[in-house]
Amino acid sequence: MKSFKWRKQLLSMAFVFSVFLFISCGANDTDYALNSALETNEQETTDEHTEDVEQSDDTDEYDADSDSDGVSDASDLNSDSSDESIDISNGETIMETTRIDDTDNFYGIEFTEDSEIFARIKDKSYKDNCTVPVSDLRYLHVLHVGFDGETHEGEIICNKYIAEDLLEIFEDLYQAEYPIEKIKLVDEYNADDESSMADNNSSCFNFRFISYTTKVSKHGYGLAMDINTLYNPYVKTVNGQLSVEPANAVDYVDRSLDFPYKITTDDLAYELFTAHGFEWGGSWSSSKDYQHFEVPDSVVNSLY
Ligand SMILES: [Zn+2]
Repeated sequence: MKSFKWRKQLLSMAFVFSVFLFISCGANDTDYALNSALETNEQETTDEHTEDVEQSDDTDEYDADSDSDGVSDASDLNSDSSDESIDISNGETIMETTRIDDTDNFYGIEFTEDSEIFARIKDKSYKDNCTVPVSDLRYLHVLHVGFDGETHEGEIICNKYIAEDLLEIFEDLYQAEYPIEKIKLVDEYNADDESSMADNNSSCFNFRFISYTTKVSKHGYGLAMDINTLYNPYVKTVNGQLSVEPANAVDYVDRSLDFPYKITTDDLAYELFTAHGFEWGGSWSSSKDYQHFEVPDSVVNSLY
């Protein structure tokens, strides 16, 4: 992903230069200068939507997320802050974010079927029968602290409705040095969930229907995220038999035991995801999916 980085740096320089031009040219040229630097969505380029107005809107939006109950509502998850974007490469556009501090390392990309990103997921997590439009997906670049205590780059494909929420959550986890071993695209495991989970990989989008139904799973929409999957397995009882996914996670089924990387309700990942309106699979009653954070049904049903 190095190429994204230098392209992004070039873009940042171009942006700074454009801002300089904008300041030099005076208020009358505001729209022209901004429009040449930012390929903005028509809705956002109306005359009354000046940079100042945007900033105050953004502040309000951030405040709304910090409700005293700590729980975001559907509209928070639904806030599509990727309307404004910058072209970086064929079919790839950088998402505009408002709540991210380190935008050099925590950023999202909107991509089309012509893009290099799509080529990586086509016929893997993005299968032929995928009912979710590519335009609803975002590629995220994040940093995370690995089990070795070092900084690593992570890649995530998710739904646009949670793209900035995830960037914000992973930025907070990184700053807190929360250990996450791997954040790779599930496509690196040929979109095989069991292989990805067995390798303790944290991931989001993988298109699939829920078994024996025509209902798309939350991961199929890119609206669920799994964290440290080996230490936080999906445990259920099928025909009286205990089923553990991944199969090599049997040692981590008993949650009363003390072991590292265990997600509990006292865990920072739990706190951050639930504060952003996600639900935790560890709270389910019929089965337990300790690695899993998802957008509630009510929100998903309002989106699709
Ligand atoms: Zn999951």
